[in-house]
Amino acid sequence: MNTASLPSELQKLSDYYKTGATLSYAFRRKQLLALKAAVQQYEKEIHDALYTDLKKSPEEAYASETGLVISEINYVLANLRKWMKPEIVATDMVNLPSRSTIYRDPLGVVLIIAPFNYPMQLLLKPLVGAIAGGNCAVLKPSELTSATTTVVNKIIRETFPPSYIRVVEGDGAEVIPAMFSAFRFDHIFYTGSTTVGKIIYKQAAEQLIPVTLELGGKSPCIIEEDADLQVAARRIAIGKFTNTGQTCIAPDYLLIKSSVKERFLGYLVAAIEKFYSSDPASSYEYGKIVNERQFDRLTGYLQHGKIIYGGRHDRAALFISPTIIDEVDQESELMKQEIFGPLLPVLTYDDSMEAMQIVQLNPQPLAFYLFSHSKQKASEWISRIPFGSGCINNTIWHFTNPHLPFGGVGNSGLGSYHGKYSFHTFTRAKSVMKTPTWFDPAIKYPPLKGKLKLFKWVIR
Ligand code: NAD
Repeated sequence: MNTASLPSELQKLSDYYKTGATLSYAFRRKQLLALKAAVQQYEKEIHDALYTDLKKSPEEAYASETGLVISEINYVLANLRKWMKPEIVATDMVNLPSRSTIYRDPLGVVLIIAPFNYPMQLLLKPLVGAIAGGNCAVLKPSELTSATTTVVNKIIRETFPPSYIRVVEGDGAEVIPAMFSAFRFDHIFYTGSTTVGKIIYKQAAEQLIPVTLELGGKSPCIIEEDADLQVAARRIAIGKFTNTGQTCIAPDYLLIKSSVKERFLGYLVAAIEKFYSSDPASSYEYGKIVNERQFDRLTGYLQHGKIIYGGRHDRAALFISPTIIDEVDQESELMKQEIFGPLLPVLTYDDSMEAMQIVQLNPQPLAFYLFSHSKQKASEWISRIPFGSGCINNTIWHFTNPHLPFGGVGNSGLGSYHGKYSFHTFTRAKSVMKTPTWFDPAIKYPPLKGKLKLFKWVIR
């Protein structure tokens, strides 16, 4: 988009929102059904684009992108009428016989910014929430996944008028500041790195725009001595190496009780080879790194420890094999930055305190994983570590459960979404108290003199 036309183009969304067209249940339902039909109609094109951008197989693309958007729409459609109903709440004694109600108001025109790693789902899943909330939306997809962005832009243009929902493409560092100076959004929903999240937060703060920040971080994965090691190996391998490790909630590093390390690593290598073969470069199941910049960053980390499995790479093919790294330098970038690639550092511990101290070096992770059968250990870890969301004896699948809020804490984000939590993120509680006129006690009006004792009895 030509940034000079941004003020007038974005103003059209605000004008459309103000007509009230987006408010009714019937309108929201119709748009959700239209979005679902479009995703279904263009499923093959979306999957082809995801193959071009990230070498995702159609099966993986469905399970982690198109299918997730469709199931989110279905879930929202099944519940939206109920969520939209004004909620009658109790009224305190002072205000009786008034009646108190909470309405959920749309926010207005929202901006949704997405990263490259799940470029369709992380743009359209928040959009489902924005539509359900009765908003207009501007979508800013990642510039790094141009094939997917092209298809998504086409779907949006064919499905919605640009005064209701539109895509603005381009380099985020240019178009986002241009949009901020052209128009005041009512909410920013940003998914991406913590570094850029801070820039967005600052720019939004200047105009007092509320934000939801879905950020990254180093998500630990703890393996206790009593874990089912074979199952853990399978679930960690899939969580780490799906999308070549470019998953915000992938286990970033392993912390394993030293007594079970060797046995576990044997199972892990077996799981990797079962899923991606001993030649992952030619595996149907295995993806690629998004671009040379990320490839160079990741291969730079290979020197930060001892490679005990994998380590193969090919810049021309943007390929890095599933890699396990031992004897990791704790002070290296590998352990300080979010890895976001198929490199798995393995650290060991002998007592839980030691492991907790390592986790706390990168506080407030987005996800946290524990493999153990002990309820006591689980409750200790869950209560001691602040994290966005996580699993016990599993990895990453919690993202797909619409009943769970998804979001980070502190360094890993602000706010949450999915299912009803998206509806709440994209609406605002509006409280209204209705007071009948037939009862109007004099105690509430001046003169107040002499009523202190009575006030103290009533207001407590
Ligand atoms: P990124 O932060 O580089 O980019 C995200 C978006 O921000 C893109 O649309 C980009 O155009 C825009 N952008 C980039 N620089 C900008 C700037 N200076 N000003 C304004 N906008 C700018 O992230 P990425 O590399 O695409 O994605 C990877 C990161 O996203 C990882 O840190 C990962 O953990 C995180 N992530 C988080 C979640 C989550 O749900 N919490 C999900 C996926 C990815």
